[in-house]
Amino acid sequence: MKTMILEWLSPMDTKPLRLIDRPDPTPGSGEVLIKVAACGVCRSSLHMIEGDWASKGLPAKLPIVPGHEIAGSVESFPLERAEEALRRLKCDPFEARAVVVP
Ligand SMILES: [Zn+2]
Repeated sequence: MKTMILEWLSPMDTKPLRLIDRPDPTPGSGEVLIKVAACGVCRSSLHMIEGDWASKGLPAKLPIVPGHEIAGSVESFPLERAEEALRRLKCDPFEARAVVVP
């Protein structure tokens, strides 16, 4: 899968994000796999990328894949925990779409 990764904090005009290929993830227990159709970049993401919140411990680690406002479709999830997973996603189980803002 294609991923924009942040390896160091820097102003956006220095282009700190790098496009890489990563193996497709496998959801673990209690997790779902979401195929991201689009990801917003809000001002919060830009503050983190540019290091404005480094003194507050954000991000907690590097490298990191920024972005927390995604829209996509659930690709797979453990059936035994489907109800809990959908509730955590704030997703109606009868809706085919969800917006995830952790
Ligand atoms: Zn945001």
